[in-house]
Amino acid sequence: MAGHKLLILGGGFGGLDVARAIGRSRAARGYWDTLLVDKENFFQFNPLLPAVAVGAIETRHIAYPLREMARHRHIRFHKNKVEHIDLAARRVTLRNGLVESWDTLVVALGSVTHHYGVPGAAEHTRPFKTLVDAMTLRARVVELFEMAEQAGTDAQKRRLLSFVIVGGGVTGVEVAAELLDMARESLLPRYPGLDRRHLSVTIVEGNDRPVPAARPEHSAYVKRFLEQRGVRLELGARVSRVEARRVHLADGRALDGFTLLWTAGVAVPPVVQALELEKHRDGRVLVDERLNPRSADGQAREDVFVIGDCAASVREDGSMQPQLSQSAIAMGAHVGRTLVRRAEGRAAEPFRFRDVGYIISLGKHSSVLELFGVALSGRLAWLAWAGAYLLKMVGIRKQIEVGIDHLTHLFFEHDTSQILARRAILTEEELDLSLASPGPDDEEQRR
Ligand SMILES: Cc1cc2nc3c(=O)[nH]c(=O)nc-3n(C[C@H](O)[C@H](O)[C@H](O)COP(=O)(O)OP(=O)(O)OC[C@H]3O[C@@H](n4cnc5c(N)ncnc54)[C@H](O)[C@@H]3O)c2cc1C
Repeated sequence: MAGHKLLILGGGFGGLDVARAIGRSRAARGYWDTLLVDKENFFQFNPLLPAVAVGAIETRHIAYPLREMARHRHIRFHKNKVEHIDLAARRVTLRNGLVESWDTLVVALGSVTHHYGVPGAAEHTRPFKTLVDAMTLRARVVELFEMAEQAGTDAQKRRLLSFVIVGGGVTGVEVAAELLDMARESLLPRYPGLDRRHLSVTIVEGNDRPVPAARPEHSAYVKRFLEQRGVRLELGARVSRVEARRVHLADGRALDGFTLLWTAGVAVPPVVQALELEKHRDGRVLVDERLNPRSADGQAREDVFVIGDCAASVREDGSMQPQLSQSAIAMGAHVGRTLVRRAEGRAAEPFRFRDVGYIISLGKHSSVLELFGVALSGRLAWLAWAGAYLLKMVGIRKQIEVGIDHLTHLFFEHDTSQILARRAILTEEELDLSLASPGPDDEEQRR
């Protein structure tokens, strides 16, 4: 009977790979009594969330049930929320007062949306991190097209179909590109009362180029691509304040948007913030070459591993690993190997992160990427994007489902059925909006 208690917190990209490594090894299964805890009962494949938000990929196809994985890998699973981690007593408190003890702990709790203390940002913008966020956005876009079709004036139509995305990183750019694709290809042709002049998508980015982590020529490609499709890019612009349906910039200007999305940054979850461990200045837990943290008094904690978005692993050139799925997967696989080696009585090896590159999808049939030093853009890059993420999907069933979605989307338009009720998509004030009134004029909208 396995006697060493292994507790994995978080079944995302990092935690899942630890659990899978344990489950694959007979020695590890015999050595570790493994419990995986996640507040959701599924793993979600984030890179395809923007495609889910426009109906190019079905919602459930990027969700993988954790209980199924736990059964296949012979480990235990609790769907519960981690509320407190007591490093001294080696105990974790879950919701409903449940307490789990551990001998070895893996913290893989990901990240939360970071609003950088901008007043009003948390209250008035929508996050884009979960499957529910993606489903809600898709339903909201369709609902707003329905409302705009019935609106009495052009000003009302423009107001309803104005989108402002704060954050011009990969997520912001991908959401904007997918949104434009769905609107132009599938929505506008079906609404005779609407045309391209009624739709506006604006991206606000603090850097002087979109996707600042990419090669400068790829940022230039993305900028050109989006601007040709009518996206307005506000570069080098800092958001100072947000009100309902209005984003204020530090230079005094204001941008109006009926839908405001915040994709500008991530922070470590509060439960990780509370840990008394050495941290990087951005709040991530600093880890050594074995992915172990140090307690605040400098003691190495060999019984704890921190991986993925909430960890900061210093690379040879002094930089930190990027907060991307590839880093979380590499860290999870490494901790998995370390724990298997421990079960086999072998010593751990140091972690080395190799950056394989990035892929940015720009909607139907276009991407830019750099993989293993090779840069590519356009249709070929889109095929590489679709193929790479298909291979990375967890389980054959999900690979088939997403593969069929890609194929269907090649030949057919976006599915625009809106299943969520209006009440789940609009605020009370938006529900009561009078479409018969003239609405704010252009001058007022673009102050
Ligand atoms: C919209 C979007 C698009 C992205 N696109 C890309 C991309 O194209 N390429 C790329 O490389 N990366 C992308 N990323 C980033 C990538 O998803 C993350 O870097 C990666 O998920 C980090 O892995 P992780 O294991 O640290 O965290 P996650 O994968 O986020 O997993 C954390 C897990 O912890 C669980 N959890 C959190 N808090 C608690 C709690 N208190 N109690 C219990 N469980 C909890 C969550 O439910 C989740 O399952 C994207 C992210 C988003 C949001």
